[in-house]
Amino acid sequence: MYDILIKRGKYPDFEAGTFIEGNVAIIGDKIVAIGDVEGDAKRVIDATGRVVSPGFIDIHMHEEQFLEDGEKYIISELMLLMGVTTALGGNCGVNRQDVKVFREVIERLGGAPINYMVLAGYNSERVKMGVGRHEPATDEQIEALTEKLRSEVEDGAYGISFGVEYDPGMPYEEVMKVLKGMPQEDLFVSMHYRDDSTGAIDSINEMISFAKESGKRFQISHLSSCSCMGQMEEAMPLINKAIAENPRLDYDTYPYNAFSTEIGTAVFEDGCFEQWGKGPEDLFMTSGKYKNQFCTMETFKEIRRDDPHVRLVAFVMNEHEIAEAIANPSCGMIGSDGGVNRNAGHPRTSGTFPRVLGKYVREDKVISLIDALRKMTWAPAKRLDLTQKGRIAVGCDADITIFDPETIKDGSTFENIFIKPVGIDAVIVNGQLAVDHNEIVNARAGEFMPGPYTKK
Ligand SMILES: [Zn+2]
Repeated sequence: MYDILIKRGKYPDFEAGTFIEGNVAIIGDKIVAIGDVEGDAKRVIDATGRVVSPGFIDIHMHEEQFLEDGEKYIISELMLLMGVTTALGGNCGVNRQDVKVFREVIERLGGAPINYMVLAGYNSERVKMGVGRHEPATDEQIEALTEKLRSEVEDGAYGISFGVEYDPGMPYEEVMKVLKGMPQEDLFVSMHYRDDSTGAIDSINEMISFAKESGKRFQISHLSSCSCMGQMEEAMPLINKAIAENPRLDYDTYPYNAFSTEIGTAVFEDGCFEQWGKGPEDLFMTSGKYKNQFCTMETFKEIRRDDPHVRLVAFVMNEHEIAEAIANPSCGMIGSDGGVNRNAGHPRTSGTFPRVLGKYVREDKVISLIDALRKMTWAPAKRLDLTQKGRIAVGCDADITIFDPETIKDGSTFENIFIKPVGIDAVIVNGQLAVDHNEIVNARAGEFMPGPYTKK
């Protein structure tokens, strides 16, 4: 007797590059049979005309803020509704709480909507230590910060992350000392670049150099928001060449022509408009006093001064360059960069994966369905050493997203990130039905996944 039998769908075989029509049987938290399998099951899901995909793995997102928002799930529920079954938080140098706290809360709540992994964010620790955003850390501070990251990794963080742009005072040498101070040779490191647009190529070269000199597994974060302002033509071959020489390097990207971050950050320092060739009218506020309004120079200056945590969406990226970053056949993964702050955020938080499948696969045809799925499942699984995830195969974890390739589409907008996507029939996490026709039916099927160097 199977627990779940998914019938008549088609599932990807990434090695063959094709879809296979057949059934998928689950017992407990594992896929136990695929193909011609028949038999009794406690639950049968008819997947006629549907794709039975490995659950999407979001390699770049920002986790819950349990300390600020209370012990509840906001972001991961949105992720689950768009088909994500495993996600890696703690990117861009930012942690919302220590990994120990994060883990304890998830365990106390009896699980999470998705399988959760986190990185330890360097910038958050740097700020906590009182290092100014525009000044370099001293050698003593670097040693103490590195020690803190080492202990976070031993407490369960999967790797570490940097947001170089957010602390412009952080020189190359500081980052390199931290990287070299981490003893794990194969440690996963993600980095939000130093600068975008006219600064993109120099920033990409800097990251290629960090990757090469440190030897770590190195992930360039959300490439689109770095170099979709006219630099992709130069950036793409540069990255592809670097990856060919150093297979430990890769990148992730998200499918929107606007990025989102807090108005008080260094991103919006003097000169930013000239650099992007845009103005305050291209910035949209998603929280605070002027929520859901585009900026004027007056409101921009007022809020940057008085309410620096207000989130801004900046429409500064070019569509064809976003498509290039997504479609690149040699490398790259889809990562949402999603997150929610004070109930506001960017639609990528709840729309990224359906948007790639609806807009970029079905409508614009810039990438095939199987290649897009590979970049959302198998590629990040391999990247994160999740050998039991990212494939529909016997013995693999039963993390599965069933969707209609003819209708799947993102729903969320810049005004409302809580609009659900359409076209997703079911999401299964660790063998348990978690989403049934757009409704969460089990928000505790996921668990905290400690990193490979966890000691405690
Ligand atoms: Zn970032």
